[in-house]
Amino acid sequence: MNLQTPILNYINNTWQQSEASDVLDVTNPATGDVLSQVPLSPTEEVNQAATAASNAYDEWRRTPPVQRVQYLFKLKNLLEENIDDIAQTITMECGKTVAEAKGEMQRAIENVEVACGIPTLMQGTNLEDIATGIDEFMIRQPVGVCAVIAPFNFPGMITFWFLPYAIACGNTYIVKPSEKVPLTMQKIFQLLEQTGLPEGVVNLVNGGQETVNTILEHPEIRAISFVGSTATAKAIYAKAAAHGKRVQCQGGAKNPLIVLPDADPQFTVNATADSAFGCAGQRCLAASLAFTVGESQNWFPKAITDTATDRIVGNGLDDNVQMGPVITQESRERIEGVIQTGIEAGARVLVDGRYPKINGCENGNFIRPTVLSNIDPQGEIAKTEIFGPVLGLIHVQTIDDAINLINSGNYGNMACLFTSSGASARKFRYEAQIGNIGINIGVAAPMAFFPFSGWKDSFFGDLHGQSWDAVDFFTQKKVVVERWN
Ligand code: NAD
Repeated sequence: MNLQTPILNYINNTWQQSEASDVLDVTNPATGDVLSQVPLSPTEEVNQAATAASNAYDEWRRTPPVQRVQYLFKLKNLLEENIDDIAQTITMECGKTVAEAKGEMQRAIENVEVACGIPTLMQGTNLEDIATGIDEFMIRQPVGVCAVIAPFNFPGMITFWFLPYAIACGNTYIVKPSEKVPLTMQKIFQLLEQTGLPEGVVNLVNGGQETVNTILEHPEIRAISFVGSTATAKAIYAKAAAHGKRVQCQGGAKNPLIVLPDADPQFTVNATADSAFGCAGQRCLAASLAFTVGESQNWFPKAITDTATDRIVGNGLDDNVQMGPVITQESRERIEGVIQTGIEAGARVLVDGRYPKINGCENGNFIRPTVLSNIDPQGEIAKTEIFGPVLGLIHVQTIDDAINLINSGNYGNMACLFTSSGASARKFRYEAQIGNIGINIGVAAPMAFFPFSGWKDSFFGDLHGQSWDAVDFFTQKKVVVERWN
């Protein structure tokens, strides 16, 4: 595999070696092999990127939208041609299977496709004769220099909830990938380079906390999109807002499923397993809790236990593997600790996935699928984001009991219901205080042509990522009142 080392910044259409004195190892979570080292770019390098983006802005925003999207059409083709290579890189640095990595890039491409519709999406509105001879209309103009701060779990896709819309709307852009998975953006920026985008329109700055803080404080940067844990999302939302920026911050999650007695058993169990154990549970839309209602308790726990036990776990590069490792050793140890705390609090272990032996991956960060029942609805397992392949089961008598418990939680990213009753489905989607609802769906991820984000502690801001919310976020409305007698 042709991984680019060292990891470079891309500023003003030039690949630059960072002068950072601090670097971090980038490791393959399946093997523990060090793949590269990522620089924690200092303030000066963020300043360079912001200056490049700022200098590029005026000409780029005057470039007609129909011309701006031509670069995105090229990018779509390049992403499609290189999807296998990008997916391999995602798997190597993030651990998920190649099929999962390709799935994430498909969603990235879909966002590029939607953003290609900007000449229509960016249109304003008008009304003639608001008074005799006077017309009024609203036009949308770009915001300026914008930036994304991305998490580790989708090294390719998450930047695409924002970047294609931002540049199609006439903004210029800075990407700060997660320092845990910087290699994927190296590949993607090589493709952005091949589109021929003008100097400074897209920029890449690798780094950590100091790099982010400089972005948040920089006067030339007008808007921030963040995706990551709730604690960081809250802090970044407050700081970016205090510096007068437009900001949207997507945070963590604790996603429940409800299994009604009238659900299709095999389908429900398969969808639950894919949701809870796909991407090793490191998805903001991963199922983490399952409420068995009434008689579904008679079949669901045994069936999900069998399915969890059967999952093939290993290096995501191997074709037959269904689940890879978690991102770091610290992450694995934290998840093992949460499982232990749950057991000590009275949870019953149906499958304990801790400390597996994975041949050829002795130094990997593996936890097999884990299922715990008899979970205390107020305990740590039920309340905190685990971000690993752990499913907790809680038994309740009615759908109302389940909805009440879901609504008492702090997060609001996703909840799903399995049923064959339309009335139950309607009740659930009407009453659940959650941003993304699945009915007989295990991972309710909105397509790129719908907005995506959660509620409550899963989101801080107003406008979500993707689709028309992204267009609203990356444009400012200007209203013109005009009289010609
Ligand atoms: P994280 O919050 O640790 O890091 C996210 C980004 O913030 C990284 O680029 C990191 O460099 C930066 N960062 C971290 N701490 C910082 C600090 N103190 N100051 C400034 N910058 C900081 O998140 P992660 O571990 O990379 O990602 C996993 C989390 O992301 C999970 O909680 C998951 O639920 C969440 N997530 C949410 C969504 C969503 O749509 N809601 C999508 C994907 C992931």
